[in-house]
Amino acid sequence: MGSLSDLNTGLQNYLKELHLPTIRSLYETYATQAQQESMSYEQYLYELSAKECEVRSQNRIERWRRESKLPLEKTLDTFDRSRLSRKLNQQVNTLLKGTFLEKAENALAFGNPGSGKTHLLSAIAQELIRQGHRVYFRSCDLLVQDLLVAKQELRLSRVIKNLSKFDAILLDDIGYVQHNRDEMEVLFTLLAERYERGSVMITSNLAFSQWERIFKDPMTTAAVIDRLVHHSVILELNLPSYRMQSAKQKKTQKND
Ligand code: ADP
Ligand code: MG
Repeated sequence: MGSLSDLNTGLQNYLKELHLPTIRSLYETYATQAQQESMSYEQYLYELSAKECEVRSQNRIERWRRESKLPLEKTLDTFDRSRLSRKLNQQVNTLLKGTFLEKAENALAFGNPGSGKTHLLSAIAQELIRQGHRVYFRSCDLLVQDLLVAKQELRLSRVIKNLSKFDAILLDDIGYVQHNRDEMEVLFTLLAERYERGSVMITSNLAFSQWERIFKDPMTTAAVIDRLVHHSVILELNLPSYRMQSAKQKKTQKND
């Protein structure tokens, strides 16, 4: 090996080929530091490797956040948990541990419009991504449309298989839009495919007793509910609308 600059050029190329961008950009700075601190060779290599892994993991999480299509402004930080009962808070803590994903269990949030279902499940989902899980958010209506198009193009099973890479699918607002039979069927197929294989997170304004509106006949409805509930955490957000309440609060503050 020739001069130091030859060495550096060669090393840069190797690190490029090995796809180690962080090590490539940091090894010289770290080397100076290692000399100053009389670090061992192993320690130096350790520090560099650790940094490469750390940056990779951050990048992966950032990628997963983007691919999730979650409303990223709905975080736990901006969610007022004091509105939740003790029981609900405990359930939220359980979900935040993420173990339900490993067991392919579901999380279902029920409550009237504005009670915070979408915000809460989205916030939990973001935490789960941070822990290294993959989540996909889609309004139920739009996902149904995606699946229907896929079915017409004979790629429904491929699309459903593709969704299986996600540890959880967050179906927002199931039952908000009335579906016809074809639409209901693809939704049923998706849920049946995921049963015991991957988690589903669902928000709904409709109690189970009204789900026949979604799945049309009593047998199908019972089958769906049975599977969803079999392994699940059910969050009952029987709360007044947050929007309404904060609007009222603003009004009282003005009048004070
Ligand atoms: P839902 O899905 O039940 O209809 P959302 O989650 O969309 O309700 O909540 C309605 C609005 O109120 C959103 O802007 C949301 O961010 C806000 N919100 C609801 N609950 C809370 C809460 N506990 N803390 C802070 N903001 C909340
Ligand atoms: Mg909602």
